[in-house]
Amino acid sequence: MKTFPTLIDRFGRQISYLRLSVTDRCDLRCAYCIPKGFRGFEVPAHWLNFAEIERLMAIFVRSGVSRIRLTGGEPLLRAQLPLLARRLAALPGLEELSLSTNATRLEDHAQALRDAGVSRVNISLDSLIPEQIKCLTGQDAFAKIMAGIDAAQQVGFSPIKINMVIVPGVNDREIDDMVAFCRDHRLILRLIEPMPMGDSGRTIAPHDLQETRQRLTQRFDLIPALIPGDGPAYYLQDPEGTFNVGFITPISRHFCATCNRVRLTVDGILHLCLGQEARVDFRTLMRSGASDEELTLALRAAVELKPERHEFREFPEKIMRFMSSTGG
Ligand code: SAM
Repeated sequence: MKTFPTLIDRFGRQISYLRLSVTDRCDLRCAYCIPKGFRGFEVPAHWLNFAEIERLMAIFVRSGVSRIRLTGGEPLLRAQLPLLARRLAALPGLEELSLSTNATRLEDHAQALRDAGVSRVNISLDSLIPEQIKCLTGQDAFAKIMAGIDAAQQVGFSPIKINMVIVPGVNDREIDDMVAFCRDHRLILRLIEPMPMGDSGRTIAPHDLQETRQRLTQRFDLIPALIPGDGPAYYLQDPEGTFNVGFITPISRHFCATCNRVRLTVDGILHLCLGQEARVDFRTLMRSGASDEELTLALRAAVELKPERHEFREFPEKIMRFMSSTGG
């Protein structure tokens, strides 16, 4: 069996996971993410085309990345996404291709993505109240999201995770309902503390999920769980092990010591940390004629730049870009 090299950073962390943003556009305007009226999207001439993405991903996978998640912006806004997914899923050495989506267009594309080799999806859902979804996202999108979740289940994505960002005073009262909904629909729930990314992220008050975790443990009779390889979430499960709820707590209890991921934006910038500025411009390298070997060396050098940790708590004003431009 062929063995693949590994990417290890200065702090001994193995970088095996890439979030690949295929667009910075989104059809929603979530209160904590893209500001309403935002116009500063990347120009199409800077978007990596499918051939560039495939070439770069082949290099990343040969270098030690074994999991890729398609994200954005809203990845389903990128035309022909299933075509790209098929090309990436076929890369020798890639163990998993997954997708993060707001699900507004998932009903139409779920089957094609599944057929293309996407095995699992994460879906953003901050509320079970249609009016609240409209208020939080700026769109009357609840019915479409629900149809998307249904389609994801029908075509057999597994697992399906629901991401709920907790916005204090807006949807924090809905946490218990969301737990019950996900338990009853066999979905994994992940509760997320809002991060102070860009002006939009900073408008949301912090929400410490440690208390919520304790409360839910008692209310739903949950016990600690381990979901192997699952990155930055702490999980609880029901005693039968049929339902899991995770807590992504970048503010109250960060998980940087085990961070295994980097992020590539639609315009080919590799970000080494969500909450720091360390980055390497792979688009310019590729478009100025870098060979595969040079790109491989650039990736190894980039991983050396990965910061030890983010500083969302200490310097909440630091990161001006918002999540959708980095690739959430
Ligand atoms: N559109 C896709 C989706 O909805 O999953 C992918 C991109 S979206 C930026 C990825 C995730 O980032 C979503 O779950 C979203 O709720 C989350 N997100 C965006 N801004 C955030 C912030 N300031 N703090 C915490 N999570 C955020």
